[in-house]
Amino acid sequence: MAVVNTPGKIEFQERSITGPSHDQVLIKTKAVSICGSDLHTFKGKHPFAQLPAAPGHELSGEVIEVGDAIKRLKVGDRVALEPVITCGQCAFCQKGTYNLCTNISFHHREGQGAFTPFFVANENWLHNLPKNISFEEGALLEPLAVAVHAVRKSEIALGDTVAIFGVGAIGLMILVLSRLSGASDIITVDVQDFRLMTAREMGTSLALNNRGDKTVDEIIRSVDGLGVDVVFEAVGIQTTFGQSLQVLKKGGRAILVGLNPEPEVTLPSNIFVQKEISLSGSQGYCWDFQTALKLVETGSMDLSRFISHRVPFDSLQEGFEILTRPQNQAIKIVVVFD
Ligand SMILES: [Zn+2]
Ligand SMILES: [Zn+2]
Repeated sequence: MAVVNTPGKIEFQERSITGPSHDQVLIKTKAVSICGSDLHTFKGKHPFAQLPAAPGHELSGEVIEVGDAIKRLKVGDRVALEPVITCGQCAFCQKGTYNLCTNISFHHREGQGAFTPFFVANENWLHNLPKNISFEEGALLEPLAVAVHAVRKSEIALGDTVAIFGVGAIGLMILVLSRLSGASDIITVDVQDFRLMTAREMGTSLALNNRGDKTVDEIIRSVDGLGVDVVFEAVGIQTTFGQSLQVLKKGGRAILVGLNPEPEVTLPSNIFVQKEISLSGSQGYCWDFQTALKLVETGSMDLSRFISHRVPFDSLQEGFEILTRPQNQAIKIVVVFD
């Protein structure tokens, strides 16, 4: 299993496989994509993960052994992992809003990172992959579920105008999903030209580089001077947080997707009263894998467009290094296992 003991260095650790117990299955890993949060861990800068840590949670694979209480899955099934661990007991779990579980955790936070040839998981959290979804696309269902959750929270309606701050993989997925949801103008903002170019290819109405100081004006001007109905903040810094609120139309809705490494930001509090805007966070996913899977299966969402690089498992170090250099123009890097 790949672990990070010191910042910037992937090490491989021999571990014995424990399981599967009666309600678990053993998976032969096929593809794992690298998440922005894995990169934070790699750099030793993740707000919630102290080193040493085992990164990786976007996994697909093949079932090779099942516990004795397993009913649905069988050996040979192709699956994608929903990497949460929930308690099933708290009020939120009981209500079905398991992303808010008071004891929520993830496999990688419990020591089982996904960059490993064999993975043990509970049957409940494994989604069968239809034949027309590859293992590589299966790994990307996790970030897609994050984007699905955020777009659902935004309640985009037909004809709504949208702005997206930050078009990394999640921001780009939000762009495509906003279009699918019936948004009209979709404005994207980033500081990397390559990402803006990709956003153009994926159907943005206007792509703006945020290096200048005219971003807010340009967005508002482009939508009849009123501001946008919905804004997604997928960066997680003070500047874009503030801009997100400024570009909102009266009565508009802001959805925060990016986690901020700083514990606090300042915000113009009166704007909430004056403009009757609302602000909501979006945490992970909750019954969104099923939707993500359907969108891919039916061809509404082509996940292969998000894969910019592939590296074999033993070159994981290189995979992370590719992500640290913007000139590599990476969107999603998929680690493939043979
Ligand atoms: Zn992820
Ligand atoms: Zn719970």
